[in-house]
Amino acid sequence: CGIVGYIGFEDASTFMLDGLSKLEYRGYDSAGIAVLGPDNVIKVQKKVGRLANLEGVVKADPNPGFMGIGHTRWATHGRPSDMNAHPHTDAKGLFAVVHNGIVENYLPIKEELLKKGYEFKSETDTEVVAHLLADMYDGDFEGTVRRMLDRIEGSYSLVIMCADDPSRIICTKQDNPLVIGLGKGENFIASDIPAIINHTRDTYILNDGEVAIVTKDSVSVSDRAGNPINKKVFHVTWNA
Ligand code: GLU
Repeated sequence: CGIVGYIGFEDASTFMLDGLSKLEYRGYDSAGIAVLGPDNVIKVQKKVGRLANLEGVVKADPNPGFMGIGHTRWATHGRPSDMNAHPHTDAKGLFAVVHNGIVENYLPIKEELLKKGYEFKSETDTEVVAHLLADMYDGDFEGTVRRMLDRIEGSYSLVIMCADDPSRIICTKQDNPLVIGLGKGENFIASDIPAIINHTRDTYILNDGEVAIVTKDSVSVSDRAGNPINKKVFHVTWNA
């Protein structure tokens, strides 16, 4: 329901917990973050209930790092629970995924992956994306995301990170909102502007089918096939 992402030089979880609190008006049943920490290990923390519950978990067991993705969930597939909360990961912890919307064709994909021996930890539609990425991975994060997008149908804002490729976050959207906040030496991702407005007012509003490759110093946007798109900066003038 709410999405945030950060890549830069500040503590990612601090931005994300603050950003998610700015999206609370959308309602949610659970929340979680994934941060790429020391030794390029992705550490996931997620908790059912209020954001304060997740904040308590992170406070007791900090999740330091300069790149992360976060989510507040409004359950569509699977009850509200710690395991069903996002981010979702593959078995090796290579990919972490947050998702708003519905992967309509998740069942046939899930059956295919179960036959191949993948084990699912949640009841969500979203988890297929993490295992599908792991299954399709050929060492090229961006190429794998693009091929994965050819497989899924439905509505989504998707933000993905890969422990193998610590320099970038990849995100895309279809029938759900996603915004990139442009900083200096840092960039922000959110499902809505209030999450980033304290950090930057220069944004790219993604259109359906656009894929953004976000590093700390650059944001490049292309269509699903990889053709570059020249985005205009949308400057936010209102106050949240
Ligand atoms: N369909 C996903 C789930 O149930 C995402 C829900 C949302 O948009 O928060 O986990």
